[in-house]
Amino acid sequence: MALIQIAEPGESTTAHQHKLAVGIDLGTTNSLVATVRSGDVKTLPDADGRHLLPSVVHYAENEVHVGVTAQQFSVKDPLNTIISVKRFMGRGIDDIAVEDAHYSYKFTNPASNADSVVPRIKTRAGDLSAVEISAQILKTLKQRAVETLGDDLTGAVITVPAYFDDAQRQATKDAARLADINVLRLLNEPTAAAVAYGLDSGNEGVIAVFDLGGGTFDVSILRLHKGVFEVLATGGDSALGGDDFDYEISRWIIAQAKFRDVDSPEIKRYLMQQARSAKEALAEQDIVDIKIDIEHCQWTGTLNRDTLKLLLTPLVKKTLLSCRRALRDAEVEKKDINEVIMVGGSTRTLLVREMVADFFEREPLTSIDPDKVVATGAALQADVLVGNKPDDEMLLLDVIPLSLGIETMGGLVEKIIHRNTAIPVAKAQDFTTYKDGQTAMAVHVLQGDRELVSDSRSLARFELRGFPPQVAGAARIRVTFQVDADGLLIVSACEENSGVEASIDVKPSYGLSDTEIERMLRESMEHAEDDMHSRSLREQQVEAERVLQALDAAMVVDGDQLLSVVEKAEIMQVRQRLIDIKADSDKEIIKQTIKQLEDTCEDYVARRMNSNIKTAMQGHSIEEYATDKKSAAEES
Ligand code: ADP
Ligand code: MG
Repeated sequence: MALIQIAEPGESTTAHQHKLAVGIDLGTTNSLVATVRSGDVKTLPDADGRHLLPSVVHYAENEVHVGVTAQQFSVKDPLNTIISVKRFMGRGIDDIAVEDAHYSYKFTNPASNADSVVPRIKTRAGDLSAVEISAQILKTLKQRAVETLGDDLTGAVITVPAYFDDAQRQATKDAARLADINVLRLLNEPTAAAVAYGLDSGNEGVIAVFDLGGGTFDVSILRLHKGVFEVLATGGDSALGGDDFDYEISRWIIAQAKFRDVDSPEIKRYLMQQARSAKEALAEQDIVDIKIDIEHCQWTGTLNRDTLKLLLTPLVKKTLLSCRRALRDAEVEKKDINEVIMVGGSTRTLLVREMVADFFEREPLTSIDPDKVVATGAALQADVLVGNKPDDEMLLLDVIPLSLGIETMGGLVEKIIHRNTAIPVAKAQDFTTYKDGQTAMAVHVLQGDRELVSDSRSLARFELRGFPPQVAGAARIRVTFQVDADGLLIVSACEENSGVEASIDVKPSYGLSDTEIERMLRESMEHAEDDMHSRSLREQQVEAERVLQALDAAMVVDGDQLLSVVEKAEIMQVRQRLIDIKADSDKEIIKQTIKQLEDTCEDYVARRMNSNIKTAMQGHSIEEYATDKKSAAEES
């Protein structure tokens, strides 16, 4: 779930005393820690002057190595050297099966520890979860901060990909807790990048943040105005990054060298490393020598930029598709974009810069080091959150990733908050009862962008009970959806005539992975036409039901008084025809038959109206029958 980040001005009670806070970019490939000192943001280096900490953990016999030291064991001891662990944060076994092809370490068989659904990686130090391994990286960064800045660290802002769902965000917080770090807030990486640029240069307008790292791709469309950052839309792919570039290149090397039998973890890891060095070198030069020399695999060759382009173009194109979608979601056109920010080490690949510049028809911003821009923004945000900047009212809005709504008659979804609405948000809509004398209503809360309940994700159900019986359509049930700053949804329902209330707290995207969100969005686009058809068919069926029920109810009351035998028989005949065809799949026929029934009943309705005026106290009205309301289950 997308989070909101707000620096509440009232939080700044101890502004006079400078507090120590850091920003942490906990990356798939590299991590960094930064802080604001004397108004300047600085990333903190290790004792050897290196700012980037490779997100690699090696479990040795008696100690744990993190970073460059751990990386050295990557080929020698791949099973105990964990890379890219961020990809598994908050993930279940099922998510991993597809992804682990690129990785060399082993996951425990879930059956062997059935009491826990958290996947664990087998290491010399035991079976470890992604959270525990991430905590090692965070500990190292904390250590670095404490050594440079002193002991009293108030807290940290830690960045996460915009696409991280609740489980993944929670896992990140858990890792911080294990590392004994107080999390001030989780911040979306692209938003942090925008903070870094926005505060530095005071830019205004619409910006796109293109973040291609080692393991993930994020694109965000943001609007900056007077220091307020609004995220208009986010998109991306949590399984696309420089690792995939390396994988393509390693496949190419294997094909060129005609290697067989390259399945051992050592060789795989080695080839990925060689591929990566070649790729990185090609950011500076046109051609690079590759020398493979491991076990039974020997080969020397060259890779040039043209070949690299052939290998990587399909992957870069994928990122541009996400960009196109994000623009559409944000309802902005390319020409509305004022700036494109490049973030992440993989944006150093020339092809990426060129294709992004082509796509957006402008040169992207690269003035802040693409490796450091996220940590920089996080440090600035941390500084604000601990109250070092009392006057700063930085407000960052985020959006909900999928629409939220409730079930209405006929298994349809009525959307109450549309996707990409900025949070916090509250929206209410009125509904009514379908049957006479109804005293309860089921509220089924749904997430997704399809039209039918069966295609949506069920989030919660609750009942509003005990309101007084009234004729169908008379009750006024106001359903309110409220999404707070942390993305927590509260749904409440109130029957307004009687004041009867009920509500429920819902976690909107709990357990929904980004791939699931992507799938649901893709499906809603693919099925838009089908859905419209099913929706209007269902609406006609519901309408037929409603007309029939109202007619039957009226007949019981005064059918015999107001109608002659012939008239009644005529009405009953059309009524029967509607009953017979209402399950039909042709919405036009249903519609015509409803019309026919209404026409046949015209005189009856008129007589009822007259008689109703005379005996208004009878409690039944024309409202019950043949009104032009869209559907008995709702009114707007
Ligand atoms: P993450 O956000 O996933 O931690 P980073 O932003 O640190 O990742 O980016 C890491 C990726 O950047 C790696 O795939 C690395 O190979 C790539 N990278 C770093 N330098 C270069 C370069 N000069 N050319 C191309 N790719 C690079
Ligand atoms: Mg990154």
